[in-house]
Amino acid sequence: MSKVNVVSAEVTPRLRLQLVASQPIAKGEIIVQSCEEEIQDHRTWRTLQLDESRHLRNEFLNFVDHSCSPNAILDVDSLALVAIRDIAADEPVVFFYPGSEVELSQEFECNCGSSDCLRHINGGFYLTRDQMHWAIDKKYCTTFMRRQFERLLGD
Ligand SMILES: [Zn+2]
Repeated sequence: MSKVNVVSAEVTPRLRLQLVASQPIAKGEIIVQSCEEEIQDHRTWRTLQLDESRHLRNEFLNFVDHSCSPNAILDVDSLALVAIRDIAADEPVVFFYPGSEVELSQEFECNCGSSDCLRHINGGFYLTRDQMHWAIDKKYCTTFMRRQFERLLGD
């Protein structure tokens, strides 16, 4: 069974659903716990990548927006979305899409407002070398993506 902790899906002024903390979430806390039954073998715009051939589709993870200054990461081993810093009540839960997906089914222009904003967002394979180093240093990537970045960057 998948499980959701301390978050709710809220409709934004632009009529999109997004996942929002309903109470403070501490760094390291599990926000959404997914399960094996939610793994599929192909990417859609609603899935999150676990490795070369496995993608997770979870009804709550579906509503986690992208940010270039994320507060959550997908733990691909435990299938859990985990807070990477303290998250305040009413703050949207966001993660860094290029840190989990090698490519996106739909690239887009980002308006996250972060001083680190990359503007044009596609999958991790489209990051520059400097951006890959930055994502590794910031711990914005899954263990799977980190291995991909390290392989692409070489020694
Ligand atoms: Zn951004």
